[in-house]
Amino acid sequence: MRSFRPALIASLVAMAVSLTAQSQPPSPAPAAAASNPRLDQLKRDIGLEVDGMQENIQKMNDTVFSFAEPGFQEFETSKYLTGILRQNGFTIQEGVAGIPTAFTARWGSGKPVIALGSDIDDIPQASQKPGVAWHEPIIEGAPGHGEGHNSGMPLQITAALAVKKIMEQQHLQGTLMLWPGVAEELLGTKAYYVRAGLFKDVDICIFAHVGSNMQVSWGDSGGNGMVSVEYNFKGESAHAAGAPWRGRSALDAVELMDIGWNFRREHLRIQQRSHYVITNGGDQPNVVPPNATVWYYFRETSYDEIKKLWDIGNTMAKAAAMMTDTEMVSMRVLGSAWPGHFNKTVAETMHANIEKVGLPQWSEADIALAKATQREMKVPETGLATKINPLRGRESIPDEEKRGGGSDDIGDISWNVPTVTLNYPSNFQAGPGHNWANAISMATPIAHKGIHYGAKVVAMTVLDLVTRPELVAQAWDYFNAQTKTKKYTPLIRPEDKPAIWLNKERMEKFRPEMRKYYYDPTKYKNYLDQLGIKYPTTERPATKSSGQQ
Ligand SMILES: [Zn+2]
Repeated sequence: MRSFRPALIASLVAMAVSLTAQSQPPSPAPAAAASNPRLDQLKRDIGLEVDGMQENIQKMNDTVFSFAEPGFQEFETSKYLTGILRQNGFTIQEGVAGIPTAFTARWGSGKPVIALGSDIDDIPQASQKPGVAWHEPIIEGAPGHGEGHNSGMPLQITAALAVKKIMEQQHLQGTLMLWPGVAEELLGTKAYYVRAGLFKDVDICIFAHVGSNMQVSWGDSGGNGMVSVEYNFKGESAHAAGAPWRGRSALDAVELMDIGWNFRREHLRIQQRSHYVITNGGDQPNVVPPNATVWYYFRETSYDEIKKLWDIGNTMAKAAAMMTDTEMVSMRVLGSAWPGHFNKTVAETMHANIEKVGLPQWSEADIALAKATQREMKVPETGLATKINPLRGRESIPDEEKRGGGSDDIGDISWNVPTVTLNYPSNFQAGPGHNWANAISMATPIAHKGIHYGAKVVAMTVLDLVTRPELVAQAWDYFNAQTKTKKYTPLIRPEDKPAIWLNKERMEKFRPEMRKYYYDPTKYKNYLDQLGIKYPTTERPATKSSGQQ
């Protein structure tokens, strides 16, 4: 547990009083701000700042979309983003937490320290032409932004640059720290960021994640945490036909572990989700596989339940090795995530700004693309978000009400510093997630507008936090209550290291071809233009009949 130091509060209060000039000094007030004309004016100013950056938003978003890098291979993305931040006076630290593509970028001085983060990696095999309402990869089999992680850091950078300008003009004290979620699709880094102390001096963390509406929530996320574990088996090779009795198949161990797990699945709690892929199943059929690997995700609603699931997995692996006379030679942790818990004060503050900013004005073309994609995916043709969701939050959700689902390693941060996640409408409901369909909007005006409006919300929320120190204090009160009985224990073990080798071979294979499609903003006004895509492309071209069968 960390407490917000009284001396610091005093200095922040003094700063805020000087800012609010003759208006009343701040007092412990509800998070929803009382009228504050000066702050309202600053928010209008910051909104205009963000409005002036629309071209940069488009360029940043489209550039990162075109890099399309999967987890731990975000080299071009990180180089590009840190370049922009460095140019704008941020101090960059590269390779943080032993992760080559991770960084922090800091500007400003003193308290509060506000961390602004978002994920940057993409999905294997999700390559997709933006603005086209059906599956059409840019490069067949290549990774692509099938979750929209290309938009988050452009949003945070836009917000940060607008805030910086206002803070400079108004001589406001505070520090901004931008940081990327590397390898989020692998739940690969945030526990390591915590371990490396990246958030040690951070007061508030504002995270952003693409969604289909503008929203924020607080309390128990209701989702699952998880641990990602790779089991490696070793057997003995032999001629699979000539002397099979001399071989011991590591693949047999993998298959028996999976069979055991699938029988056991019926007797696990309904909240769990677990899945696996076999990443090494041998070389060719006539060689008894001497080694084999299976990679599991174990998801559950709490640290204790995740650990129980993981223990069952370990038992299955050992038992499979015994059955096959092979050896389980190693078990590597490749990622982890705590179930999230988000801060009430910061969420309320942010929600008030969401109501102020509202939703973007969608064009007919935007709506046509959304509906055509929804038609293609056979989901209701709801188009794009037109109504803001109410603020939702529950301090705790009874375990029996939870029904599992995915995980996000922002959960680890949320147990170490008051945190919220802003969802912003750069996408629409259509794809199943982790899929090419979720990439369709992500380098189109839909993505750009979502970032534009989302950046305003973040910028205004940061202004609230740097000018109203009582909000930071209240956020810590909530956080200290949240962490009073539940203590953060990382799922990564002391000996675990970030799995930075993942996706390396994939990118060695695809990078040369992908380079040809990097966005060049000096030649093309947007990425659609560079790819020669009419916006929106909603009608399939008539198939040419070749007359051949
Ligand atoms: Zn994501």
